Amino acid sequence: MLKAGIKRLALITGLSILATGCAVSPTGEKTLLLNSPAQMNAMGSQSFEQMKEKIPAEEDARTNRYVQCVADAIVMQVPREYGYAPQNWELVVFKDDAVNAFALPGGKIGVYTGMLKMANNQHQLASVIGHEVSHVLAQHGNARMSQQQLTQLGMAAATIAMADRVDSKTQQAAILALGLGAQYGILLPYSRKHESEADMLGQELMAQAGFDPREAVTLWQKMSQKGGATPPELLSTHPAPSTRIHQLDAQVQQYMPLYQQARAAGRRPDCDRLKPR
Ligand SMILES: [Zn+2]
Repeated sequence: MLKAGIKRLALITGLSILATGCAVSPTGEKTLLLNSPAQMNAMGSQSFEQMKEKIPAEEDARTNRYVQCVADAIVMQVPREYGYAPQNWELVVFKDDAVNAFALPGGKIGVYTGMLKMANNQHQLASVIGHEVSHVLAQHGNARMSQQQLTQLGMAAATIAMADRVDSKTQQAAILALGLGAQYGILLPYSRKHESEADMLGQELMAQAGFDPREAVTLWQKMSQKGGATPPELLSTHPAPSTRIHQLDAQVQQYMPLYQQARAAGRRPDCDRLKPR
């Protein structure tokens, strides 16, 4: 009786997985997305609120205006088809020395003050924000979580299959295995494929906003050079092998015309004048 109930649970979960199914990423990669955008947005917003409780926000007005100026210029260039209007994005500058930044579904952007020392001009900061926003647009958080949910579904099925008789303990184990995905998704490292996709989209966004795409190469070079005992925290969730830097460098040719068009059209961000000294 119990066993039948769990089999049914696994079947229903399996069917809902198939129903949600496959999607195509912005660069044309097939990807499995098991969670609705509404679910992801709710999770992103919730995680952001938790971070705001844990980490103090930077209070210096000039620093906040500087980072906001760069973020505004980037989100203005997000194509409307992604469902994010420029005013829907929320930015918080966290007062923390870690070289870190992130963006979450639901339009949340976090930049640590430690990052401002590494990305030390508006173009480099734009490359970081553009990259993070691109992970959100390409739904990489959803893709990472979906992979994990599949693994857990497999684990739940294995738990049931291996049990001689399904008692309440087995049932609990199976339910746990099925339901635990949510809390891990946001902190997992991105895959190489996700990194290169975010690099591509991010460098395009920054160029369209009028930031120099060559500075993305400089920034990631600096980031990977500062390894040693205290590598930038950003690298723990965004692996940056030299292949990525080569790719960014190769894409400069492609995005320079976009940058020049943006400048000619009057998109010339001047956030540096707000930079704290
Ligand atoms: Zn990344």
